[in-house]
Order: sequence, then C-alpha cells, then structure tokens
Amino acid sequence: MTQRPVYDVAIIGSGAGGGMAAYVLTKAGARVVMLEAGERWFASQNSKMMVPAYATPHRGASIKGRPFGEFDACDGGWDIDGEPFTRAPGTQFSWWRARMLGGRTNHWGRISLRFGPDDFRRKSLDGLGDDWPISYDDVKPYYDDVDRLIGLYGSNEGLRNAPDGIFMPPPKPRCYELLVKKASDQLNVTCIPARLSVITKPLGDRQACHYCGQCNRGCSVKANFSSPDVLIAPALKTGKLTLITNAMAREVTVGQDGLADGVSYIDKHTGSDEHVRAKVVVLAASALESARLLLNSKSSAFSNGLANSSGVVGKYLTDTTGGSVSGFIPSMVDHVPHNHDGVGGMHVYMPWWLDNSKLDFPRGYHIEVWGGAGAPGAGFGGGIQRYPGGGGYGAQLKQDYRKYYGATIGFDGRGEMIPNENSFCELDQNTVDKFGIPVLRIHWKFTDYEYNQAKHMQETFRALIAQMGGEVFSPMPTKERDYGLATGGSIIHELGGARMGSDPKSSVVNGNCQAHDVKNLFVADGSPFVSQADKNPTWTILALSWRTSEYIAQQRQAGAL
Ligand SMILES: Cc1cc2nc3c(=O)[nH]c(=O)nc-3n(C[C@H](O)[C@H](O)[C@H](O)COP(=O)(O)OP(=O)(O)OC[C@H]3O[C@@H](n4cnc5c(N)ncnc54)[C@H](O)[C@@H]3O)c2cc1C
Ligand code: SF4
Repeated sequence: MTQRPVYDVAIIGSGAGGGMAAYVLTKAGARVVMLEAGERWFASQNSKMMVPAYATPHRGASIKGRPFGEFDACDGGWDIDGEPFTRAPGTQFSWWRARMLGGRTNHWGRISLRFGPDDFRRKSLDGLGDDWPISYDDVKPYYDDVDRLIGLYGSNEGLRNAPDGIFMPPPKPRCYELLVKKASDQLNVTCIPARLSVITKPLGDRQACHYCGQCNRGCSVKANFSSPDVLIAPALKTGKLTLITNAMAREVTVGQDGLADGVSYIDKHTGSDEHVRAKVVVLAASALESARLLLNSKSSAFSNGLANSSGVVGKYLTDTTGGSVSGFIPSMVDHVPHNHDGVGGMHVYMPWWLDNSKLDFPRGYHIEVWGGAGAPGAGFGGGIQRYPGGGGYGAQLKQDYRKYYGATIGFDGRGEMIPNENSFCELDQNTVDKFGIPVLRIHWKFTDYEYNQAKHMQETFRALIAQMGGEVFSPMPTKERDYGLATGGSIIHELGGARMGSDPKSSVVNGNCQAHDVKNLFVADGSPFVSQADKNPTWTILALSWRTSEYIAQQRQAGAL
C-alpha cells in the first residue's frame, strides 16, 4: 500500500491570503498542498476581456453564479446553490462568497490601500475597539514587498495615516475626475491619485495596462492583480505546489498530540470524503469561512471548535461601512465625444481628511469616485427618467441617451465600523449545506457610530455634487432609513472571526497569525484583523499573509514546526 504524502503545509483557499501563502512558502522550499473549493481559472487563459456585450447571449447581464454580469471574472455570489447561511432574527446581512481558484481577487476593485499607523492602535487613541498586537512598522516591510511583487499605481503624498508606497505612475484623471478634483479642492476635501493594483509599466512577464476598462472580467495580459496569475502560477512553477480544486474543506484534523495533522475535504466531483496530511495548516478560506472551519473542527480535545479556548472564534465581525450618492452634472451633458479610456476603476480618490474629535462619530471613511462614459453594458442608460425631461420612447428617447450618456457622477463612502459584541457568527445547529457541513448563522448590528458616519457621507457627497453644479438623483435618506448605510456584509470587506491579540483569553491568534492553542495552525485571510480601518482590506491581507508565511518558513527551518 502506498503511504499518503505528508505535506509540509496545507493551505485552504486560494484567494489573496491563500495565494500569497502558497507563493512565499513554495519559494521558501516547502512542499505545499492547496485545497480550493472552486474550479481552476486563470484570467490570462480564461478571461473574456475583449468580448463586446452585444456579441453575447445575455448582453453581459447577470446570470446565475455570475451576478455581477455574464463575463464578470468571479464564480460565486450572494446565494450559492446548496450552500446556505442563516441570519439571526432581526439581522440583515449579505455575504458574497467566491467559489473558484483565486477567489474574489479575480474581480475585486483592485483598490490597494495600506492601513496607517493609527489604524493599528485605535483603542489607544479613542478608547474604542482594541489595539492590534503589532504596529504599522511591523507590517511596513511586507507592504513594500507586496508593492514590488504585485505592483500598483499611486502617488506619494506624505499623508500621515494614508501611507505612501512604492508606486508606478498613476493614469491621468479623466474629464469627470478633473471636475471632482476641482470641487474637492474648493471644499477642502483631499483628492489625490487613486491607488490600484494595476500596473502602468511592464513587470516581469506582465504587460502594462492598455486601458480597456474591463478589469472586473480579469485581465488577459495580467496587468491587474489576481491571485491565480500573479501568485499561484509562479508557485506552481516551483514544482512544490500541489493544487486540488473542487475540494471543499470540512475540518482541520488534529492528532493525539493536539496539533493539526491535516484537513478533511469533500471531492466535489465524486462526493467522496478525502483527507490530506500536513505538518502545518494555513486557513485562508476568507474571514467567515475560516471561522466556520474552526468552529466545525471539533474533537475531544477541542469540543468548542479548534483554537477556540477563548470562545472568541466567530466574534467581532466587521464590514466596511458604505454610503452612496449619484447625480448628473449639466456641464457634462451633450459633451464633445472624447477619450474616457482608463483602467477598470477610478483614477482619483479621497482619503479620510477630517479630525474625528470635531465630529459626532469616531472613525473615518474614504471616498471612491465613478462616472463618465464606458463601453455600454446590459441595462446601459437605465434610469433615464431621472434626468430632466428624460424618458419617453422613440427618437426622443434615443436622443436623451446620447445627451446624458457620460454625464453621471457617483460617490461611494467606504468607512470604518467599530467591532461590537452583537456582530458575530456561530454554527447553526439545525442547518447543513449540501455536503453535510453545518452552516453559519450571522448576527449583526450597527451602532450610532456607523449611522452618524453614514449621515456625514451623504452630506459630503451631496455638497460635492452641488459644488460641481450637479443635481442628485435621490433625496437625503432619513434616520429611519439609516441615512443610507449599506447592509452589513454588502460592501464585501468582511473581517474578523479569529482576531489577533497578545492575550489567549481574548484572542484566537497571536501577532504572527498563529493560533494560541495550536502552534502549527495559522490564519492568513481577513479573520485575524482587530479593526477594519477606513481602508479596503486586501493589501493588508496580502502583507500579513506574506509576514505569516515567512514566519512559518523560519520556524520550520529552526525545527519549531
Ligand atoms: C466585487 C468586489 C470588489 C472588491 N473590491 C475590493 C477592493 O477594491 N479593494 C480591496 O481591498 N478589497 C476588495 N474586495 C474584497 C477582496 O476581494 C477580499 O478582501 C479578498 O479577496 C479576500 O481574500 P481572501 O483570500 O480572504 O478570500 P477570497 O478571495 O474570497 O478567497 C477565498 C477562497 O477560499 C475558497 N474557499 C472557501 N471556503 C472553502 C473551503 N471550505 N474549502 C476550500 N476552499 C474554500 C473560496 O472558493 C475562495 O477561492 C472586493 C470584493 C468584491 C467581491
Ligand atoms: S484596464 Fe488595464 S488592467 Fe484592466 S483589464 Fe484592461 S488592460 Fe487589464
């Protein structure tokens, strides 16, 4: 009988966290097995970047499994057949889950922001939430490494809590972005070049962006970041990575010594139960899925779930707060046709620019900008009735489309939620998924910290549109409508569930993302985050995964793992 191999490391999940762990660990010489619940997919081979919407069966509209559009690069969605989750009474929560190689990095917005020095020590500054056990200086070298390896554009501005990086030149602002910049300057809102992981110069075997604007479909020339092309492909090239796709991990298994000894999973093709053996296990299935795996990994030694002696697994969940306002700008109506080409995302953005001590909410938000003219997709021009005189039918309708096309502007606020006791997940005792694995039940509550921040977002965006001489499409949402605050989870930046800390009684992992209770178990996605910051999280997930993986490699070399 052939002995099953014992890998040095088993990684669950292949998104930002898992991809980076595979890259760093295989380069360090470890034999790694990666379990991924979805199909194999590489944008460089599979993207439909240049297919026009009109040439497709659904005109680019949403289809099952691709709710953001037929050619959106991510399989998954808000609901996955046979894989439910439940919500506690009164909870509103949306959960986007990817099921494919590379996870959500295939279609993410590529907004790549470092957390700032304050973001790691908020409790010391305002008494709310908790401090991280590590500082910006601990993570900075890894942010630098991620910048160099993956590449991003931006500009060095010297802003204290929106740290500079190693940037490629940013693309020039488009016409509507110049108008946004002008209005921002007039209202003293800091507006600077955006920071997106799109390369504007060639990097290794990756070509520079050619500004087709289709980033969400995946980039055939690898000019934007996705985990499969930028991290997993080089890891495969080392010959050290065994990739098992369609492998839905059920639980981390534990040996007599109380250490993790592998992962059991379901082969989705055959439905059979399988197991891989490994000396170290890295969870990177995304924040909530990793918490679910820990809670489902019960044994006599860990009856409360693995690494959960603190009872903190699943606790202190957060998502980015979101608020939006859009409108139209008369000076952009009937514009002279001109080049709106750019990356599939913004060229300018506004980092948090105010002092919270003068406001009625404790943490900040940044502003994302959209607008202008792009390739028309499904439903293009929808809502034409919102424009003055717009609507009707026939020749007039066509004329209205021409007139108003490209004259829309939108602002999205993306802010920091403070972790609270009422936002957590647990196993639902009555529901299993199609694989027989218990599912998560989510509890969620925002507080006035978030509601007041959402109100401020609305007021700011309306002031910006007014400054541009524009008109907004919708009235200011009232307090009863939560000031337009987006539902928990819907901004798709969910974090927490296995938070980091120095005290094993109140945290799940230590500053190296190593479980306090199980020294050969690590978490390399958004679960260890102690706070959300007013930044999108993925650049920090990548930097922390690199740092954790380097630590694993050192510990293995020292014989400690
Ligand atoms: C539309 C969209 C836009 C976004 N824009 C931005 C942005 O601009 N900036 C930013 O910072 N972030 C953005 N995000 C968030 C970003 O995508 C995530 O922060 C990031 O992908 C998280 O990485 P991850 O490795 O934790 O999880 P994922 O990328 O979700 O990867 C997890 C992987 O684990 C697999 N998996 C799950 N459970 C199991 C299991 N039991 N067994 C085996 N495999 C499993 C999944 O199939 C998936 O491939 C965006 C997300 C979306 C959806
Ligand atoms: S805009 Fe640039 S990065 Fe995005 S898909 Fe097109 S070429 Fe690739």
